[in-house]
Amino acid sequence: MDTTKMKTVIVGGGFAGINLAQQLLKSSQNIHVTLVDRNNYNFFPPLLYQVATGFLDVSNISYPYRRLFRNQPNFTFQMGELLEIRPDQNTIELSTGELHYDNLIIATGTTSNYFGMQNIEKYSLPMKTIDDAIALKNTLLSRLEIASRTQDKAERKRLTTIVVAGGGPTGVEVAGMLSELRQNIFKKDYPELADLSFDIYLVDGMATLLTPMSEKSQAYTLKSLTNMGVQVKLNKRVTDFQGERVSFADGEVIETRNLIWAAGVTSQRFKGLPVESYGRGNRLLVDAFNKVQGEGNIYAIGDNCLQTTDPAFTGGHPQVAQVAIQQGQNLAKNLVATMNGGNQKPFTYHDKGSMAIIGRNKAVTDLPKPAIHMNGFIAWLMWLFVHLISLVNFRNKLKTAYNWVAAYLSKDQHLRMIVKSRTLQEEEADHWR
Ligand SMILES: Cc1cc2nc3c(=O)[nH]c(=O)nc-3n(C[C@H](O)[C@H](O)[C@H](O)COP(=O)(O)OP(=O)(O)OC[C@H]3O[C@@H](n4cnc5c(N)ncnc54)[C@H](O)[C@@H]3O)c2cc1C
Repeated sequence: MDTTKMKTVIVGGGFAGINLAQQLLKSSQNIHVTLVDRNNYNFFPPLLYQVATGFLDVSNISYPYRRLFRNQPNFTFQMGELLEIRPDQNTIELSTGELHYDNLIIATGTTSNYFGMQNIEKYSLPMKTIDDAIALKNTLLSRLEIASRTQDKAERKRLTTIVVAGGGPTGVEVAGMLSELRQNIFKKDYPELADLSFDIYLVDGMATLLTPMSEKSQAYTLKSLTNMGVQVKLNKRVTDFQGERVSFADGEVIETRNLIWAAGVTSQRFKGLPVESYGRGNRLLVDAFNKVQGEGNIYAIGDNCLQTTDPAFTGGHPQVAQVAIQQGQNLAKNLVATMNGGNQKPFTYHDKGSMAIIGRNKAVTDLPKPAIHMNGFIAWLMWLFVHLISLVNFRNKLKTAYNWVAAYLSKDQHLRMIVKSRTLQEEEADHWR
């Protein structure tokens, strides 16, 4: 590594980290970028639920960092988990060694939030990472296999009932997709289970689904999911799940082995930064230029930062991909400008709108200025187009487009192989004991 170059270490290669790295490498020859991530690949969270339900393959929505940045002389990748930051020494401690930085950027996103409920963390199925999506698919399919050979009626029902917790876009999308699987695939693939209803519940502690979206989007989503046979329960707070039944604050209980957890996220705290650096949801408090409060050369971008200086978002930005992308690009320009003696530009978010898909031909879109609401087929086409063009490279766009067309025409997909993890093998063995 050329020691005369500005050593910029980015921890986290999601939307924020990747956009920052790409923009920096494009804009200056005097910066060396080291990207650190706990995985060796970038992935696209908005389509995780399609991997979890067997509609897309992992390779459609992920890409290795070393391939993405191949032939970039000013780039290094290090796989590792950030453990500690030492601001006084300008170093960070990773699970795989120590790194020195001139500028450090933390872009580690969020993790699932279980709100301190340990049973839920232990027994539910989260939807946050590729590992989660693979585990979810394997577990649900394995449980259908177990149900198909189980004589115990109550257990068959528990194995084939699914509760999705969290009425945000992820929960809505998973519940909608599961409902389509039930209609088009489960009953055909599992004739032994034809007498079962495969109940799907979508539950949320709030009074509406898709809380940040328009009332029209919320109402359309509720009606569509209900028509698709999803049992939506609002104002319902999950309090416990020990693997066999979900308990709610109002005393209701749903018998199930499958609780999909999409009910909240939180950021991570890292050893070495004072407790005052963190705000709501463990998000790092940053100034208008994404510099971490009280630090000289440490920045935070994307989901893991809380910025209240943007006049239109004084409560902080929503934790969505566009904020992360735009913050990454703005910070790159500011770091290069500082090196060249130019002025920095405070971050302001350009809101391009929000959307959620519910099922085949059904989606909702809210555009901000002028405020326009769309639903149904047009919104669905928009959702497909926006998500397709947002994938990281041409190969992934092509493979995903092909899979979508095939799935749309055939109402089926063939990615339902159960790849057994050690945990799954243990669970199956338990059922035979
Ligand atoms: C299922 C799902 C669906 C979503 N759908 C949408 C959608 O439709 N539209 C939308 O706008 N947003 C959506 N989001 C939110 C969107 O994905 C986030 O806002 C966005 O990913 C934030 O980007 P980021 O770069 O801040 O973090 P991330 O994309 O989460 O990237 C963080 C990176 O940091 C790495 N990392 C984390 N901790 C460490 C550590 N300690 N050490 C090293 N590396 C670490 C991770 O491996 C990851 O690569 C969705 C999120 C999920 C989970």
